[in-house]
Amino acid sequence: ANDGPDVKRVLLKLSGEVFGGGRTGIDPDVVNGIAKQVAEAVREGVQVAIVVGGGNFFRGAELSQRGMERSRADYIGMLGTVMNALALQDFCEKQGVETRVQSAITMGQVAEPYIPRRAIRHLEKGRVVIFGAGAGMPYFSTDTVSAQRALEIKADAVLMSKSGVDAVYSADPRVDPDAIRFDEITFSEALRLGLKVVDAAAFALCMENRLPMVVFGMEGEGNIARVLRGEKIGTLVHA
Ligand code: UDP
Repeated sequence: ANDGPDVKRVLLKLSGEVFGGGRTGIDPDVVNGIAKQVAEAVREGVQVAIVVGGGNFFRGAELSQRGMERSRADYIGMLGTVMNALALQDFCEKQGVETRVQSAITMGQVAEPYIPRRAIRHLEKGRVVIFGAGAGMPYFSTDTVSAQRALEIKADAVLMSKSGVDAVYSADPRVDPDAIRFDEITFSEALRLGLKVVDAAAFALCMENRLPMVVFGMEGEGNIARVLRGEKIGTLVHA
């Protein structure tokens, strides 16, 4: 077992894929289930900020492979994350947890702009803060944004949920049956092995700033609540 970081303020990355329950779009039952777990952790006193992905709608790289200009495709990808953010906000509030969405692309009707100090104030008041629209910059991924936001709001750890894989392995376990599962690994080792489970830029940012990362799977029952509580699931990646 690994020594999970003692977490009080955490940045949770939710991959877009989970929002759709395996399909394009949003599955309200799935999002409700996520919100319930987040609410549980908030009631236990954990400060929770969330970065949402958008893979259930669009991935810029995939659109550009099919002929779309990359930057525009990436903006479409970012807009997808905002839909996920609003859906999650809705279900968090139904669970009785005050929630603010901050978007990296200005859209005043539906979200606050990204203002880090304000985000911290929300967290201190027990509100969940959901960051949408990634970094607002093409060629970035929401994994990398998660590391950046975690650093800027001074989170104790970044918790990366993944769908289809429950930890960091020496190779993709869905492809290579001999892949070894790590309870813990250093950032430099993950980078040296070229592991793709999390973006290299996210690993590098966490490494340089000594920010612990937990990579865990969404599939297990109650996994979000468990990881938010600091339970040792998945893989601890550390400096
Ligand atoms: N994206 C971007 N800049 C960012 C964050 C996201 O351009 O700062 C775009 C990119 O096209 C990406 C899409 O938004 O493919 C959805 O995000 P991501 O693929 O990270 O979502 P996930 O895989 O976590 O669902």
